[in-house]
Amino acid sequence: MDDINRVIERNRQRYLDDLFTLLRQPSISAQDTGVRECARLLQGLMEEAGIRTRIFETARHPVVYGEAGEPDAEKAILVYGHYDVQPPEPLAEWLSPPFEPSVRDGKIYGRGSSDNKGQLFAHVKGLQSYLEARGGLPRGLKMKYIFEGEEEISSPNLEGFAAAHKDLLKADAAIFSDSHVHESGFPTVILGLKGMLYIELVVKTIKQDMHSLKAASLPSPVWRLVTLLSHIKGEDGVVKIPGYYDDVRRPTAEEIRAVEAIPYEKVAIMRDHGASHLIQGRTTDHYYYNLTFEPTANIAGIFSGYQGKGSKTVLPAEAHAKLDLRLVPDQKPKRVLNNLRDYLDDLGYNDVRIEVHGELEPSRTPLDNPWVAVAVRAVRKAYSMEPVIYPGIGGSGPNYVFTGTLGMPCVLVPFAAHDQANHAPNENMILEGYFNGIRTAAAIIDEAAKA
Ligand SMILES: [Zn+2]
Repeated sequence: MDDINRVIERNRQRYLDDLFTLLRQPSISAQDTGVRECARLLQGLMEEAGIRTRIFETARHPVVYGEAGEPDAEKAILVYGHYDVQPPEPLAEWLSPPFEPSVRDGKIYGRGSSDNKGQLFAHVKGLQSYLEARGGLPRGLKMKYIFEGEEEISSPNLEGFAAAHKDLLKADAAIFSDSHVHESGFPTVILGLKGMLYIELVVKTIKQDMHSLKAASLPSPVWRLVTLLSHIKGEDGVVKIPGYYDDVRRPTAEEIRAVEAIPYEKVAIMRDHGASHLIQGRTTDHYYYNLTFEPTANIAGIFSGYQGKGSKTVLPAEAHAKLDLRLVPDQKPKRVLNNLRDYLDDLGYNDVRIEVHGELEPSRTPLDNPWVAVAVRAVRKAYSMEPVIYPGIGGSGPNYVFTGTLGMPCVLVPFAAHDQANHAPNENMILEGYFNGIRTAAAIIDEAAKA
């Protein structure tokens, strides 16, 4: 790796300038701002790095696809990332403009610096440094890159694209750099993401809001809704939908050991969150155990009736609750939805409407998959530190496209810091995180060739 590290050191400023070029181009998928221009810009930067690149149209924002290495190489690694970003609002809270990247206190500030341009670009520069140091990729190894422009709007076309291009995307493993390293600064390797069923429950009992004197004789949608909600989850935190836990994959002994090895202090976690206690789940109140292995049923919002100043005596006509249910392997959003519908019907809530706002499959790569060891060795080499291994994390993402649709292991190797402020004002990427990422990306090529 010394030869590659020397190349990276020599090119520090250039690698940073090229990232800044990418960060200066807005690519706000939700607002259709600059996404196509960013795809073309990224294509040019990838070509310069030695990647043969093509742009594929989708129904909305294009996919940028690239390859490096011998076309007939037997082994392939597929790197996934997204070049679209969240809207930058509220603009007044940015200390420097979101699309004018700048470095302050060892951090690169700018929209997309960590989520996800900075992290995906570390892979592009990792390859470039490898090619410059070694004159080409190792024999028999091909690198593939798929960078989408729709992740921040829930990847509506990624699964369809993958299903239609299975041969093109065929690889031994997928690598994805998102999320963040451990709070302590130790690098992390993440093997799973939760799925999601996002629903809204709608209860309507009368044709319009009325004087609350009528509550003596007419049914209240709000009482009906809160009573219904108490049937979904109990005081003990356990979800009551029949069959909810049937498909929950039991963690292996190794996975449990890995979760217990994540550095964590219960008291510090409670203090950091301002919480008096942690949820006693089905088996434990271990913060990371429940975050990794347990599905949730969260009420994200509940609204009805008068919310204004002072009092207003009203009998509301409608009540709404938005719920996000984060699912773990091998739960299926469709099955959970059907079970919930049947359950509500059995309880006599046939009148309650369920609106579906989103569905995402969960995904987890087994700890003993050999490509996990490859990623761990690469991270160890690049950081000269032992990575913290997460069998899964509480968040959701499109990993199932790789583990499910494309049937390959998927390993997350983050480079950003935990306080990256992604989706928020003053998003940042730790400067050394970017260069650690470049070193890790080069080390992944090295280790993949040996695997
Ligand atoms: Zn994001």
